[in-house]
Amino acid sequence: MLIGVESEITIRVADELLMFLPATRRDTANRVPYDGTSTLGHIVESLGVPLPEAGPMSIGGEPAGPSTRPDDGDEVRVAAVPRPQPVPLEPGQDAPRFLLDVHLGTLARRMRLLGLDTAYHNDMDDPALVAQANAERRVLLTQDRGLLRRRALWFGAYVRGSRPDDQLRDLLDRFAPVLRPWTRCTACNGELVPVDKQEVEHDLEAGTRRSYDAYGRCADCGQVYWRGAHGDHLEEIVREATELVEAVRGNGRTEPRCRRDEERGWSTSISSWWEPRSSRTDGCSARSGPSRRTWRAAGNCRVGRSIRASRMRTPWYASATRNWRSRCGSAAGSAATGG
Ligand SMILES: [Zn+2]
Repeated sequence: MLIGVESEITIRVADELLMFLPATRRDTANRVPYDGTSTLGHIVESLGVPLPEAGPMSIGGEPAGPSTRPDDGDEVRVAAVPRPQPVPLEPGQDAPRFLLDVHLGTLARRMRLLGLDTAYHNDMDDPALVAQANAERRVLLTQDRGLLRRRALWFGAYVRGSRPDDQLRDLLDRFAPVLRPWTRCTACNGELVPVDKQEVEHDLEAGTRRSYDAYGRCADCGQVYWRGAHGDHLEEIVREATELVEAVRGNGRTEPRCRRDEERGWSTSISSWWEPRSSRTDGCSARSGPSRRTWRAAGNCRVGRSIRASRMRTPWYASATRNWRSRCGSAAGSAATGG
């Protein structure tokens, strides 16, 4: 490098990463000044791309890593993260665990609906998020680029899309995780366990008691679940998600992470209970349970009951109930307890 002559390198980033660059530099080929000492990782981040979003890099066609130091005039290529992206799993774990940033509450509930282990709090600051993600080996999902630049973070990912539907699609396309729909509490992420109808009968309104036989209860917060109103909307989410994950895997981009579950054929008919969030108010008159108290405090009980009462009168509700029963056959209860 000649004194007084500034070094430069050329960086070509994949189209998928252009969104991270400032508008004025949103070009696949960027010539940037080079100080002769910075690493590739530092240069890529300076350009605006968080390292967790950068895929394989190369210099002059040769593979390079974030710690590589380029030479003057080098041409660097930065690919997007390959999809589906593998996540290191702990022993006994067959799907990644996730932690969501504070503004992704709706996405968190949808992920729990699909059975993904999803931690979420609406009041955590960045250091606390990084600490929990690292301690519990959870993939931190965020739309905060600054958070993804934190060196201490073990595994993070940027969630694309402003609508929860798009965010969920992006997440499923990126990780193609094993799904277990209808097995988690959307409120607290606890696992649902089968429970006898007699045990929860006193918590139910008459209409619910008459219509459903299979129930589950959240092992953590005690919320009771059954298949209820809005089931069609939730089932649509589950169906789309399952098809998307199957399509991603079917493209040969990954092997199923848990062969046992593939053979077992998880489906909505195996875990047959579910009470969607909007009808959780059914349990408001019950005697105990933290989430019921929360809902009562939030003033949702009366509204929820009236919505639910109107649905109880509609043919849709009756036919939804019939369909569910016919899918599960006479083993509606035992299918649930077997799941
Ligand atoms: Zn719960």
